Amino acid sequence: MEEVEFERMEGFHKLRSLWSIEYRVTTLEPILTQAATEEAKELVDSIIGKTIPKDLPDAVPLILGNRAVITGNAVKGVFRHVISAQLREAGVPICYQGVKYTEGKPPEEWQCKPENPCFACTWFGTPSRQGALYFSFLKSVDDVEGVLAGEPIPMIALRDDYRAQRGRAFLMLAPVREGVVFEGYIRGENLSREILGALKEVQDMSERGFIRFGGFKTRGFGSVKIEITRIEEYGTTPFELRRVYEGEELQRFLEECQEAYHRLMGRAER
Ligand SMILES: [Zn+2]
Repeated sequence: MEEVEFERMEGFHKLRSLWSIEYRVTTLEPILTQAATEEAKELVDSIIGKTIPKDLPDAVPLILGNRAVITGNAVKGVFRHVISAQLREAGVPICYQGVKYTEGKPPEEWQCKPENPCFACTWFGTPSRQGALYFSFLKSVDDVEGVLAGEPIPMIALRDDYRAQRGRAFLMLAPVREGVVFEGYIRGENLSREILGALKEVQDMSERGFIRFGGFKTRGFGSVKIEITRIEEYGTTPFELRRVYEGEELQRFLEECQEAYHRLMGRAER
């Protein structure tokens, strides 16, 4: 596959810059972050009341410290998937590490080498190699009592993995309702304009409803709007806050980064 030049990461042996990217996620649809533990089901059941014609709801959000949460790993997976798929379509070599396929192998399987990582492995890492981006948990701003959909949503189970569960013809889902705000941050080392622009690209897609978190995505769940609200850039010799991007300055900076990301895609031969 043709190599496409992108701005390489300095490596972890040299610390050139540190970044803190604060962002907000607003649910556009109900979301279910994961099938949860029995304790979480009992808690949700007690909040929404004993209206469910089953013992407990089948799926409820992940809850930590009285906040609904989305794990950093889940968020990272969505960002990695979207950016990788887009770059592949543009003709940039991106390996298939960590991509799940429901049926067989991808048509064109390619793995980058550890000494020459692809764009995705450079920034998101691999099981054996650290990435340059760290995703925090996203936590709901409001208590869990305030973020659940009022009534559990019944759903006929059609998926193969549920069909296997006998006697479960339907599921009761207790998702986070739409319009709920989560906050979190992404921290990074030696980030390039290109990867910052890629994050902005995902934000743009989310504004049109194309970014989904959690389960039951094909059933009208999980669409979220992402908004980067503040970026701090730190110098490292010595460690000091170099620049804060907010408001219009943040928008200009993100657009400049996005242009760098678009140029990267433009360098590839389709
Ligand atoms: Zn790779």
